[in-house]
Amino acid sequence: MSVGEPVLTIVVPCYNEEQVLHETTRELTRIMKELVEKNKIDQNSSILFVDDGSKDSTWRILEENHEINPYVQGIKLSRNFGHQGALIAGLETSQNYSDCVVSIDADLQDDVNAILEFIDKYHEGYDIVYGVRDKRDTDTPFKRNTALAFYKIMSNLGVNLVPNHADFRLISKRALSEFVKYQEENLFIRGIVPLLGFKQTKVYYNRKERFAGESKYPLKKMLSFALDGITSFSVVPIKLVTAFGFFLVLFGMGIAGYSLIEKLLEHTISGWTSLMISIWIVGGMQLIAIGIIGEYVGKIFKETKHRPRYTIEKNTLEQSNKNTIKEYI
Ligand code: UDP
Ligand code: MG
Repeated sequence: MSVGEPVLTIVVPCYNEEQVLHETTRELTRIMKELVEKNKIDQNSSILFVDDGSKDSTWRILEENHEINPYVQGIKLSRNFGHQGALIAGLETSQNYSDCVVSIDADLQDDVNAILEFIDKYHEGYDIVYGVRDKRDTDTPFKRNTALAFYKIMSNLGVNLVPNHADFRLISKRALSEFVKYQEENLFIRGIVPLLGFKQTKVYYNRKERFAGESKYPLKKMLSFALDGITSFSVVPIKLVTAFGFFLVLFGMGIAGYSLIEKLLEHTISGWTSLMISIWIVGGMQLIAIGIIGEYVGKIFKETKHRPRYTIEKNTLEQSNKNTIKEYI
């Protein structure tokens, strides 16, 4: 920890954002100046832009801004790693020299003024502050409804997400150092952060239209993002296979009864009964078997992620100092 005010880093992933970069830099610099003037953050705080393999002039603009604006820093990824990858790159880079990190999109959809509140919450002792949008009326109805459905499915699958919160949040140094222990490659940040624990809170803001440029999240990316979220956190789909298998066997027994009756009543041609019975019962049994194998695969999947098993928040062993021990003896 630094003595005095906390060093803040604002991490901004950017992919082909040349149209918004100047305005974003201006706005974030304004926030930085305000926080420094109010003595809420250290003046060595910075804005870390992560160029996620942009094909336009994003990096050149970043370099130019870096020359003239002491707050602006940049890292350039070797190719496009996607929003989550860029974010992780920024978080990991800044964790060594920051007391708290705010992540925000480059397109000014999130209200930069909320950062002032984030910092107040940080000073109140919160480790994680979620920016939660009040209304979603600037999103298309399609995006709004698919997002809602996504949260619903996720919560049914047992994944704890903060609704209407994207990746606009503040994380303290100690929460960040726990975050980087999650070493899985498919890191679904929004699902991990609530797992970190510590003191968490929300700040509400109005989400605006994109300042300029186009969304870099077309439907295809959104779907794969959602699927990633589900499969990185949940083995419920595997359990559904097993459950469906059981259901099929039960159903198959019904069909077996029906087929036997039909046979006894001589309504059938030869071969039909045995076929019906084996299709349904054997089919169900196969699904159960796949489900059971799936359970083991699910276990392996969980193990390979090497998630930390616990996080210690405080520890008297580290806090006690030798003097008090001496006095006691
Ligand atoms: N982004 C990125 N890499 C990508 C796609 C997006 O770094 O491959 C950044 C983008 O520049 C923006 C943020 O992630 O700062 C969110 O993207 P966007 O605003 O397009 O998504 P939306 O708000 O439409 O969901
Ligand atoms: Mg956006």
